[in-house]
Amino acid sequence: ASGYSLLRDPHHNKGLAFTEKERDAHYLRGLLPPVMMSQKLQEKKLMENIRQYQVPLQKYMAMMDLEERNERLFYKLLIDNVEELLPVVYTPTVGEACQKYGSIFKRPQGLYISLKEKGKILEVLKNWPEKSIQVIVVTDGERILGLGDLGCQGMGIPVGKLALYTALGGVRPSSCLPVTIDVGTNNEQLLKDEFYIGLRQRRATGKEYYDLLHEFMTAVKQNYGEKFEDFANHNAFELLAKYSTTHLVFNDDIQGTAAVVLAGLVAALKLLGGSLAEQTFLFLGAGEAGTGIAELIALEMSKQSKAPLEETRKKIFLVDSKGLIVSSRKDSLQHFKKPWAHEHEPVKDLLNAVKAIKPTVLIGSSGVGQTFTKEKPVILALSNPTSQSECTAEEAYTWSQGRAIFASGSPFDPVEYKGKVYLPGQANNAYIFPGLGLGLVISGAIRVHNAMLLAASEALAGQVSKEHFDKGLIYPPFSNIRKISAHIAANVAAKAYELGVATHLPQPENLVKYAESCMYTPNYRTYR
Ligand code: NAP
Ligand code: MN
Repeated sequence: ASGYSLLRDPHHNKGLAFTEKERDAHYLRGLLPPVMMSQKLQEKKLMENIRQYQVPLQKYMAMMDLEERNERLFYKLLIDNVEELLPVVYTPTVGEACQKYGSIFKRPQGLYISLKEKGKILEVLKNWPEKSIQVIVVTDGERILGLGDLGCQGMGIPVGKLALYTALGGVRPSSCLPVTIDVGTNNEQLLKDEFYIGLRQRRATGKEYYDLLHEFMTAVKQNYGEKFEDFANHNAFELLAKYSTTHLVFNDDIQGTAAVVLAGLVAALKLLGGSLAEQTFLFLGAGEAGTGIAELIALEMSKQSKAPLEETRKKIFLVDSKGLIVSSRKDSLQHFKKPWAHEHEPVKDLLNAVKAIKPTVLIGSSGVGQTFTKEKPVILALSNPTSQSECTAEEAYTWSQGRAIFASGSPFDPVEYKGKVYLPGQANNAYIFPGLGLGLVISGAIRVHNAMLLAASEALAGQVSKEHFDKGLIYPPFSNIRKISAHIAANVAAKAYELGVATHLPQPENLVKYAESCMYTPNYRTYR
């Protein structure tokens, strides 16, 4: 290989960090200026560059350029500056990036599978250069964050999430595959946009849709693991139910979010006292996130109190766009809402539901911003990006006169209220999926069971210390995320072994140590 192509290969390029010896051995003489710069100094330089951009989208583009130029440096930056860069490569900025993906598009970063590829998906997969894929994140772009149908431009989500599997969970970048399934879009604005990168047609539905998905799932079956992401709920539940018994799949919106929220609640209860079963939960939003979280909470309550699931579900109420979900609406409800149709008078909206139910925990999973208007002790405003958050951190602290425990899907800055500074938490599935993914990979799990999600959740809650509680935090800071991920991975793997779904035998003795030893680190390697 020539030195010239080495510099253009993002997996191997080290830029100015190539040593004198390497420059000689790899035909790099003259292709670089004389100076040799350490990775650390390169990192400093790039962080200074990125901090100069005022517009978040420019920071995003700078990071994506870096990823395409020098992969290890990209991950080094992301790992060492995780709290600063997470909002750049992930929510909220990734949302804006998806909206403008056609305009900022430079090079494809993942695999696009559209209706045009029908009948050829296996060949398409073979076009991808990496052969040992362990994690696939796939979206059909129909429900991107709380921003709706972004069609083919949803690709930003799998790309961003997989960057976190690597940076936060230590899954090797070469074993990650972002996929976008393009069956069209119903977004009129995009259909008219001259820079739109997807199929210019309305969404295929029914058999045409399911056939394409099935061809894809069959093609990846052999040795791949996959994760569903940002599908609209009318397909998400069905796809998960259809493939979870035959494939290693999970839906991060339904299951990953649930594990994160449950962990936060368990931690919050340590702070407030009391048990899960003593709480009354009210959700605004009864879609993938809402019902997924509700189900995992009910499962955990049932595990703790030994009460049947049908009983523990009764402590949880959900409001959708038509009001409180109650038994009189049962016949017209989508199937995933039916378990939550309790005996209760009809209630038309959130405000009246709060009055009637008197929840102790209020959770927003509606995708609609600015919908919380009442204070509650525990407020989780999960909707992304920031513009869709059910309330702001400032509102939560002001309404509750500083008593609320607040966390949101996208990050908020600290809030000063009456002379005291409050640190809002970030309740985002990014706490769970990287460690969960690593746990599945290291154990060679063949299925994802709910007990494994509970194990992930338990490991996350276990990482919240007294010191965090004292600051009112129910999630540990993201700066410790690699250690947290190792613990989550170990707990998930342990459960996989216990359930007999792990294939990497024998089981390593110390799973935390083993998980850590498997994690990808982005330090430069020496080339001989
Ligand atoms: P979804 O499946 O489309 O569900 C949205 C739910 O909200 C539906 O039940 C819908 O009611 C309800 N809704 C919409 N507008 C409403 C209104 N004005 N009043 C009351 N209910 C309303 O979406 P999802 O997958 O659950 O995601 C929802 C949000 O959660 C998104 O913003 C997403 O970004 C966020 N999320 C956050 C995380 C995280 O880690 N923090 C993870 C996943 C998702 P109908 O059923 O009647 O239509
Ligand atoms: Mn999502």
